[in-house]
Amino acid sequence: MKKEPVKVKEVEISNRVNGFQEVVLGYSEEEALQEASRCLQCKDPVCISGCPVGIDIKKFIGQITDKDYKGGYFTIREKNNFPSMCGRICPAEYQCRKACILTKKGLAYASAEAINIHFLERFVGDYGMKDNLKAGGEKDQEFSKFKVAVVGSGPAGLCCAGELARKGIKVDIFEGLHKSGGVLRYGIPPFRLPRDVLDFEIDYLKELGVEIITNSIIGKAKTLDELFSEGYAAIFLGLGAGTPSFLGIPGENLCNVYSANEFLTRVNLMSAYKFPEFHTPVNVGKHIIVIGGGNTAMDSARVALRLQKMSGLEPDTTILYRRTEVEMPARRLEIEHAKEEGVKFRKLVKPEEFTGDELGFVKKIRCLECELGEPDSSGRRRPVEIKGSDFELDCDMSVIAIGLNANQILTKATPELKVDKYNDLVVDPQSMETSVKGVFAGGDIVGGEGTVIEAMGMAMKAAKGIIECITKK
Ligand code: FAD
Repeated sequence: MKKEPVKVKEVEISNRVNGFQEVVLGYSEEEALQEASRCLQCKDPVCISGCPVGIDIKKFIGQITDKDYKGGYFTIREKNNFPSMCGRICPAEYQCRKACILTKKGLAYASAEAINIHFLERFVGDYGMKDNLKAGGEKDQEFSKFKVAVVGSGPAGLCCAGELARKGIKVDIFEGLHKSGGVLRYGIPPFRLPRDVLDFEIDYLKELGVEIITNSIIGKAKTLDELFSEGYAAIFLGLGAGTPSFLGIPGENLCNVYSANEFLTRVNLMSAYKFPEFHTPVNVGKHIIVIGGGNTAMDSARVALRLQKMSGLEPDTTILYRRTEVEMPARRLEIEHAKEEGVKFRKLVKPEEFTGDELGFVKKIRCLECELGEPDSSGRRRPVEIKGSDFELDCDMSVIAIGLNANQILTKATPELKVDKYNDLVVDPQSMETSVKGVFAGGDIVGGEGTVIEAMGMAMKAAKGIIECITKK
């Protein structure tokens, strides 16, 4: 008899929006065993090809079935230093689950029948966290003479640091912000990625000997040449895509129109939602408009709605998107959660202008209706404006979440680093070495905005390139 997928437990919708506690509760042991028992244990598993870091998915699910959770944990750890984190935020429906044999070929994202690999990964990761399991490396005395600098402490930087430290290389991470984690801390809200999970996974790196130097912007505080002269044998750049895109429409500079980066950083990193405990509040509008259809837009809208609720306002947060839900790049789960929590969606809508009051605060947004035309270069159907379809919405706060571009602080200060037309770093695709000898890169600064696990996949490749480079010298 066909076994039904095991649904994951979630906090009651009515309780979610009152705070920032985690929404998805994960599998119990019984549920994990039931879900793992649906895995066909294929002779030639294709799910692995969908994982950018190549976790042996078949093996760790088999270990769950055998109740060998510790074994499962170490199987994942062979390829991924952050199982609890990835089990929570990986867009599995576009990656391993999409490749699962139970998803029929040709679907844009995983079918509901595909094994819930991410929830099983989370179960095993949390088991390891609860038992404080430590995956040692194969530290090699020969490597202890090398030290490598990593710039940026997002998933790319952390992953590269972990790979090198496991071998016994001394790694120092330089991070511009006052806390480590990159988007994991300043972008993704705690109700999706609790900070104790992030801290546990970062602490593991510290135990491996990785040092994290915060408040240190490379390109300003120090140059790459200075790092080399301090004895670093190689440098990895995980600079991310921290520069927001804007709409370029009138009124965008009005007060209370935020970029998603600023808004999420104020709330997640500066703890605006804990005001007055933290002295960094954020304005909260009565009618909030979020523009975009990706994860950043979903996170912004869900955060905005919570802030409205926590400020005693009637929640009124609306997402405007130029296309339809099919084309939305956000994780399906985040779209569902946003809807369940009360975020309104207006699709096929293009913002044209913000208008404000005499004090310069935004009050309204004027939009045009759209229809779908022919596919564009991304393969998604292009939104085509409908002339004369203008309409206005109340909007006393807006968050623009339409995309992110390369963080250029270091590349501008280092003209020898070759960049492409998007200002992303150009690298050798095999070694991930940049145009500067001994300097490697990975994550969103190479190839633009991607996913956490893609950033980690590139970082692992770079770590190999770095080891080859420094041992050849
Ligand atoms: P980042 O995470 O951006 O980290 C770069 C770090 O480098 C930052 O900490 C920055 O301060 C630091 N830095 C930059 N320049 C310097 C310098 N010169 N000196 C010192 N430090 C520097 N992906 C998913 O897989 N699942 C999701 O659910 C998901 N949700 C997302 C939600 C939001 C709001 C956003 C913005 C992105 C989301 N993503 C998600 C995408 C994912 O977070 C990124 O692909 C990933 O973080 C890229 O990792 P990175 O290490 O390259 O860069």
